Amino acid sequence: MDFIDDQLAEAKRHELYRNTHTYYPGDATHVRIDGKQYLMLAANNYLGLTHCPAVRQAAIEAIEAYGTGSGGARLTTGTHPLYPLLEQELADFKGTEAAVVFNAGYMANIGAISAIAGTGDVIFSDELNHASIIDGCRLSRAQTVVFRHSDMAHLAQLLAQTNCNGRRLIVVDGVFSMDGDIAPLDAIVELAERYNAMVMVDDAHATGVIGPGGRGTAAHFGLKDRVLLQMGTLSKALAAEGGYIAGSRKVVEYLINKSRSFIFSTALSPATIAAARAALHEVVSRPELVARLSNNARIMRQMLLAAGCSIDQGSTPIIPVMVGSAGTAVALAGKLKNNGVIISAIRPPTVPDGTSRLRLTVSAAHEESELAQAVRKISTIAEELGLVAGGKRS
Ligand SMILES: *Cc1c(COP(=O)(O)O)cnc(C)c1O
Repeated sequence: MDFIDDQLAEAKRHELYRNTHTYYPGDATHVRIDGKQYLMLAANNYLGLTHCPAVRQAAIEAIEAYGTGSGGARLTTGTHPLYPLLEQELADFKGTEAAVVFNAGYMANIGAISAIAGTGDVIFSDELNHASIIDGCRLSRAQTVVFRHSDMAHLAQLLAQTNCNGRRLIVVDGVFSMDGDIAPLDAIVELAERYNAMVMVDDAHATGVIGPGGRGTAAHFGLKDRVLLQMGTLSKALAAEGGYIAGSRKVVEYLINKSRSFIFSTALSPATIAAARAALHEVVSRPELVARLSNNARIMRQMLLAAGCSIDQGSTPIIPVMVGSAGTAVALAGKLKNNGVIISAIRPPTVPDGTSRLRLTVSAAHEESELAQAVRKISTIAEELGLVAGGKRS
């Protein structure tokens, strides 16, 4: 059993050791620990709907009416009547014929990818895709060809070069989870049509975030039915838990029959489905929430740039501040926490070596004054650590 001690010690030596942190949520943008309040800039609660009165009420009413656990898998006893309502509402929102809900975004990805592609098929996967896509590719046993991040010339070259007598699937994050940039899905769809490939987009960070009314990446580019599988989560902007795939009726029927993560896992609780429905209703009926999120993201990006932080051009609420070494990222996040701000240090293996970063996520529920205060703290601490020269970008 020495490998356990050895590997944990190794992780600690390289500042890659991980443990869980417990927080009490106070509201959508603040948490409490030991009586102290912190500003949360690390959650994916993009629209602040976890604490929306209507969403909470929907979950409470579902518990009172139907109890807690679902008691079974979807195909046996676990499909509560709230499920088909949510699935139809998700399909309507995404402009597809149908949708199917999985127990997590992770499970939607591994279940859908391994059902759509198999031995003899080829999956073309962006190098920065989320771990759940990577695991779905592995599980599928298809050949996986990784293309350079959003590099369409490279993707085209690989599509042309790779022999395949089976199916081809191109899969990307719509909004990349650690970089916050948007995949060039319009160009991907054109290449897919030229090379007869299927397209899947992961809208975990795009649902409720980009596109008209937060309808996601395909809507952002006006691609309608040209994307076969639009995956999303209920766990981020939709303030609940679970994942979904939206697509044609036929694709959804196929996934229900073939996705092992759908078939062999107990369904979500009625309260979770009720919360997700209520959150989706908020997104649809209050498009100003999505506009407020975009506005907060724009303001935060401007303030960080003005403070001399190293961030890329972009528009989404995921804002990586590049730091470089894992140790520095951890030190920066630790000092920020001591100053009442929670921002994640993102390190390998989540991101490539040498690209450790702080990953800020902005919510529609943040007040502009709080964002400004956080930027001042980041800038002061970064200067203390010698990361920003004179408060200006060099
Ligand atoms: C969070 C995330 C997932 C997984 O979704 P969960 O609902 O948390 O399981 C999948 N893909 C991306 C890009 C994500 O960021």
